Amino acid sequence: MRDVVVAIDGPAGTGKSSVSRGLARALRARYLDTGAMYRLVTLGVLRAEVDLADAAAVAGVDVPISVGYDPDEDRAYLAGEDVSALIRGDEVTRAVSAVSAVPAVRTRLVELQRELASGSGSVVVEGRDIGTVVLPDADVKIFLTASAETRARRRNDQNVAAGLPDDYDGVLADVRRRDHLDSTRAVSPLRAAEDALVVDTSEMTEAEVVAHLLDLVHESSGAMR
Ligand code: C5P
Repeated sequence: MRDVVVAIDGPAGTGKSSVSRGLARALRARYLDTGAMYRLVTLGVLRAEVDLADAAAVAGVDVPISVGYDPDEDRAYLAGEDVSALIRGDEVTRAVSAVSAVPAVRTRLVELQRELASGSGSVVVEGRDIGTVVLPDADVKIFLTASAETRARRRNDQNVAAGLPDDYDGVLADVRRRDHLDSTRAVSPLRAAEDALVVDTSEMTEAEVVAHLLDLVHESSGAMR
């Protein structure tokens, strides 16, 4: 199969990260997690102690971004420090929507993401605006969905497995809050590209989703020949 560029978008809790990694492994492709980039910038902004409501101040924080592109070796670094666990923590998760709504932050990261995705070989790029803004010419665009309840249940199960409190209602409220912020922001709101293949993962296991996406990629790349 020739090299393919695959864009995978969708809200939190659709299993997007796991299936994107699984697909990248199956395709022997590089994998770019753009959410990790927004999380890294958010951690840098929190550490700089600027007011999150002050877009100019947020945009002014210079965060040296360094993320891995290997689906099996998923690390993120801030000025040499391994912050892979920290960027998934509560504090960053609460602040990331505000930081990612700042246009100057998006402009900078979108440019960097295009640069990284343009290397040789196949690549799977995962995020919220990949098919619509970052890589509108991607060979295959996939938009994952699942009901808010399914996504909250998955996220809560992950939390419990990680030793965090069991709080389905709180997680559901957070899922809805982030959906609202991400889909109503002025710059790059979360939505499926017109030519995206929409896949509802509510009733599917992770392995089933990966197998289905692999079929979709093979079908599309057959059509591209
Ligand atoms: O995918 P993940 O949940 O790690 O993304 C964290 C946040 O980063 C999202 O809630 C969203 O606010 C932001 N994001 C974005 N654009 C992307 C990827 C992530 O705005 N391409």
